[in-house]
Amino acid sequence: MANIDSIKIRMYRHGFGDCFLLRFFSGKTLKFKMLIDCGLKHNDSVKEVPLADVVKDIIKEVSIKKDGKSVPHLDVLVITHEHWDHVSAFKPERKLFDQFDVDKIWMAWTENPKDEEAKIINAHLKKSITALAFAANKISSNTEKKEKAGFFKNVYKGNEMLTVRKDYQFALNSVTEFYGPLNIAKNVKTSPSGIQFKKNFKISIETQKALDHVKSKLAKNKSGIEYFLPGKLMEKLDGLPGIRIYVLGPPKNEKLNKDTPSAGKNKEVYFGETNTSMMGFVRGILKMAGADQGFDDGNPFTNVQNIKKVDAEKHPYYKGTYFKSDEAWRTIEDDWLDITGALALQMDNDTNNTSLALAIEMIDQEKILLFPGDAQVGNWLSWHDHTWKVTKNGKTESVNAENILNKTVFYKAGHHASHNATLKTKGLEMMNHPDLVTFVPEKEDQYNGIPFEPLLTRLDERCKGRVLVSADKNFKAETRLKNKPAGLSAKEWKHFKDNIEINQLFIEYTIIG
Ligand SMILES: [Zn+2]
Repeated sequence: MANIDSIKIRMYRHGFGDCFLLRFFSGKTLKFKMLIDCGLKHNDSVKEVPLADVVKDIIKEVSIKKDGKSVPHLDVLVITHEHWDHVSAFKPERKLFDQFDVDKIWMAWTENPKDEEAKIINAHLKKSITALAFAANKISSNTEKKEKAGFFKNVYKGNEMLTVRKDYQFALNSVTEFYGPLNIAKNVKTSPSGIQFKKNFKISIETQKALDHVKSKLAKNKSGIEYFLPGKLMEKLDGLPGIRIYVLGPPKNEKLNKDTPSAGKNKEVYFGETNTSMMGFVRGILKMAGADQGFDDGNPFTNVQNIKKVDAEKHPYYKGTYFKSDEAWRTIEDDWLDITGALALQMDNDTNNTSLALAIEMIDQEKILLFPGDAQVGNWLSWHDHTWKVTKNGKTESVNAENILNKTVFYKAGHHASHNATLKTKGLEMMNHPDLVTFVPEKEDQYNGIPFEPLLTRLDERCKGRVLVSADKNFKAETRLKNKPAGLSAKEWKHFKDNIEINQLFIEYTIIG
């Protein structure tokens, strides 16, 4: 069979979320179809592009004749990680993909129910989600309580304070939305805040249900599901002659937990910040919520300095001061919960770091397509721990992450172009191929700081203007295609425009060998 000599990459424009259809051709013949994720952030949509239309379009492009009937067929469905904006289209009730014939499903080792480390990570995440939901609920009920008691009216700049509180709660909820709608289903356990979980479930019931649907209904047989470890190399895949696929991440080591860049000039991204582990905080919340836990209860002080609330309430001094009813509006015992925002962000990062990161190489052309999911700092850094042994002209050669980045001609921006999901020195600065093109799946006003503009600027420099955003009206793809960017030659510009198709539903780029 003749080698694959062109790949069409279609990015859908349905809103904040990933859905990429890759079609591999040999000449004019379609040889292989791969779908990478299909999801939309909770509470987001683009009116003109409902998810159902996206799936209809996929069906149109991938259907084959089987027993005289037209059946949508995918050679591979890749699920990068368990976030609603990557999996929501697989929600079982939607039945959007149920008629599909899917040969293989690829997921990261972190989804493997038999992997011991994955089990620990998932238990940890489940704990954090319980804590997050409890804290978020408590924070909003405290604001309500204080508002009713007239606190914000009586205090200096109270109205502004109330506005800030409400904004904060809104931001907190928008992070928890990445775990999907948190409240449906029967026969489930309910956390103290009313969030429902099934006992062994990793994240909210809804994201897990979508994932389970993929595993149980869409996989024709269990052996069709493959869980990948980093460092794996796939060559000579059925239907993909001339293609090599490298598994870059997620890492199977301590880098999995590294979601924030190092401090100072060693920072790995285009932005710097610090963060500390939030597990003590999680334990504190769980204790408050009455959930069970280990020996460390998360308290900052030993018992010598402690007085329990029930005891303090009976104590004559506190009774006449702190616990007096007309002082209730200025109580502070729940204010420590305000760092919940940091917990929410850390969890979001942790899940993103479990992203399956793949590099797809057209061997003869030495061109690579990079799909990192929402991988963040630790995941990217770990790619550099591996070398892949490939055969070229009968000889064995070593390939490392730098070689892969050097050959990258297409980059699916990590995590919708946020500040910590495109590595700098060990990432984008190594992507020095003159043909580099970047697609960014994101929409305006969905997530604070996305897209991270200094990163977009640098991507634009690296790609010489060939950066296309799916659904953000501040960075309209149509507008970008109007004028030739200064850095591109007329020939490069023509080549790019000739190989881009753009309409309301999708943006498609064809990589030609
Ligand atoms: Zn995402």
